[in-house]
Amino acid sequence: MPSAEHLLSGLDPDQRVAATSLHGPVAIIAGAGSGKTRVITHRIAYAIHTGEHDARSSVAVTFTAKAAGEMTRRLRALAVPEVRVRTFHAAALRQLRHYYPQVLNRDLPEVTAVKAPLLGAAATGLSLPANAAALRDYASEIEWAKVNSIPPRDYCQAIDKARRQPPAGLPGPVMAEIFEEYERRKTAAGRIDFEDVLLLMVALLEARPEVAAHVRGGLRHITVDEYQDASPVQQRLLDAWLGDNDNLCVVGDPSQTIYSFAGADASLLTTFADRYPDATVVRLPSTYRCTPEITATANRVLAAGGEGLTLTSRQQSGPAVRVRGYADAAAEAGGVADQIADLLADGVAASDVAILMRLNALTEPFEEALSARGIGYQVSGGTGFFRRAEVRKALTVIRGAGVATAAGTDTAQGAADSLSQTVAALLAGLGWTPQPPLTAGASRDRWESLAALHAAAREFEASHPGATLRDFAAELTDRAERADAPDGAGVTLASLHSAKGAEWPVVFLVGLAEGVLPHSSATTAGDIAEERRLLYVGITRAAKRLVLTYSKARSAGGRERSPSRFLAAISEDVAASMAANRQTAKASGKRGRGAKARRCRNCGKPLDTGAEQALGRCRDCPGTVDVDLLERLRSWRRQAAEDLAAAKGKDREPAFMVARDETLEAIAEKRPTDLAALASIPGIGPSKLDDFGEAILEVVNEGLPVTQPD
Ligand code: ATP
Ligand code: MG
Repeated sequence: MPSAEHLLSGLDPDQRVAATSLHGPVAIIAGAGSGKTRVITHRIAYAIHTGEHDARSSVAVTFTAKAAGEMTRRLRALAVPEVRVRTFHAAALRQLRHYYPQVLNRDLPEVTAVKAPLLGAAATGLSLPANAAALRDYASEIEWAKVNSIPPRDYCQAIDKARRQPPAGLPGPVMAEIFEEYERRKTAAGRIDFEDVLLLMVALLEARPEVAAHVRGGLRHITVDEYQDASPVQQRLLDAWLGDNDNLCVVGDPSQTIYSFAGADASLLTTFADRYPDATVVRLPSTYRCTPEITATANRVLAAGGEGLTLTSRQQSGPAVRVRGYADAAAEAGGVADQIADLLADGVAASDVAILMRLNALTEPFEEALSARGIGYQVSGGTGFFRRAEVRKALTVIRGAGVATAAGTDTAQGAADSLSQTVAALLAGLGWTPQPPLTAGASRDRWESLAALHAAAREFEASHPGATLRDFAAELTDRAERADAPDGAGVTLASLHSAKGAEWPVVFLVGLAEGVLPHSSATTAGDIAEERRLLYVGITRAAKRLVLTYSKARSAGGRERSPSRFLAAISEDVAASMAANRQTAKASGKRGRGAKARRCRNCGKPLDTGAEQALGRCRDCPGTVDVDLLERLRSWRRQAAEDLAAAKGKDREPAFMVARDETLEAIAEKRPTDLAALASIPGIGPSKLDDFGEAILEVVNEGLPVTQPD
């Protein structure tokens, strides 16, 4: 067991101040890799070893199950295994499962992880778009409202106050209606969602003093990692947990705020000392993780956005940071996989390498390129590791062998075999081989799952010398409960969001093209600043070697795209080529405008049809349709079709003879106010303009504010 003093020996003087301030509020505000997570882990262990905190009433809160698993392992290594480490969500859910039935005398409703099915039904019921992009938009807007504790009836007022635009150009009352309908359908289905878990627990704690007293008894010391990404509802939960107690330690980095879109509020961190005037605030000025080359790159990216701390590196100099452009995404993936193959040949472990990207959806070409070269990999945050059939089967086998070995009825773990050798033998019984198959696909995925279990066994035997198969089975059961999937032995493919807090010696940051990072959905200055911070998070995951890549087209021969604007701060080549592009665009302003309209402003996809180009977005993406206007246009069209039929002496005339659906949608999106603007709408040719132009403009203008005569 480490002595209390020994726990402090691995910390520098600033870090020690934080680790030894054990009472009252403490905030550690510092840049990436400065040792924040290390300090809080050592602080917790030190406080328990010195008897200042009680392990059973200490809790650490992290943002992902993976981070919680990592901290649990680190605390175990520091001999304080009893401290609970949870995500906000997992902590609240446990409490709710315990107290909800006691207080309300009924079972807790089932928690639904996805909103799409209920939202789809709600949107369809209200005759609103229900495609995947629209449902995503509604879901994030509802999540924003709920993490800010805004119910549907207060939504319109709240967005006015926050100067917030509802998604897809929807009027506030329509978004409020979707929100209300979603809540109604959710209740009718007997479900609650992720945000409800926190809201319900907050409500229980606020309304029931006996519940609050009981919960607070077990939460005397609370530590929160990555506090810059806390949302208002998480803060309410923290406040309710604390009551009068101020033993709260928060750590974070405002430059790593990457969840503002979901309601994170970094000002909770930056104003901590205002809310707790007697707080101990510690700032850590240097990074222990990154080489000076990587640190300088991170500093330049933040400085170009006009924000951020300047970090200094405590590491030795390493290889130069490289920026590489490729012709298309497949060439980019191949180039990255070739470089990884070279590194592995030089003795770098595959588990020391990560490929990080803006979107989970971009992994495919990289998976193929790695498979083709026989390089093992795992997609971090992939769906339910512990729910996969091969993993469930392997767990059953490992558990069974563990019990049999402990009872002496089986010799699965031979005397001479190490734990990982025994596990390898059991996995071999399920068809696993140490070498990966050379193809991508289902058999490859199965291999990766079993390889991850084998790697977990190796890691476990290293941190728990003498551990038995039964201990390892118990560890896996524990990890399954925490949804803490093992990392595996291969290269990690992960999204930038899920890489938060983690580190690898070698990082490839890929897909750094405009439209991907910054993502095309980022339109405001605030959105762009968040995308820049996301790149900063990615850069600072690398300890020794960093390569940044982009491709000039998505697919071979496809439309050209620019490297990410953020690369201009890092690469002279990119800065020069972007300056040259700007010159060309200026010289042919007209062509420049045309080129801009050929990509969807939402998702960046090339626009194929004239209609799409006129709208500036593809058919799959939600537009900024004025729903009221669309309704008025539809009723005008019904009447116009009837009039047309009467004029021709027919019973009826189909509505499209007047105008097609997409034409009405385009009008409701563009809201033309004169004939020239109306003429630019696809579907409005000269004869339509003559026949219906004035009438359409009247319908459009009906919704505009009327100027009062003097
Ligand atoms: P992030 O902002 O990315 O979450 P962080 O501030 O939490 O980073 P840590 O992950 O705690 O940083 O530390 C970064 C790396 O630096 C880790 O490998 C950690 O072990 C190492 N480190 C931190 N402090 C020291 C120290 N005083 N001496 C040696 N290594 C250190
Ligand atoms: Mg950290």
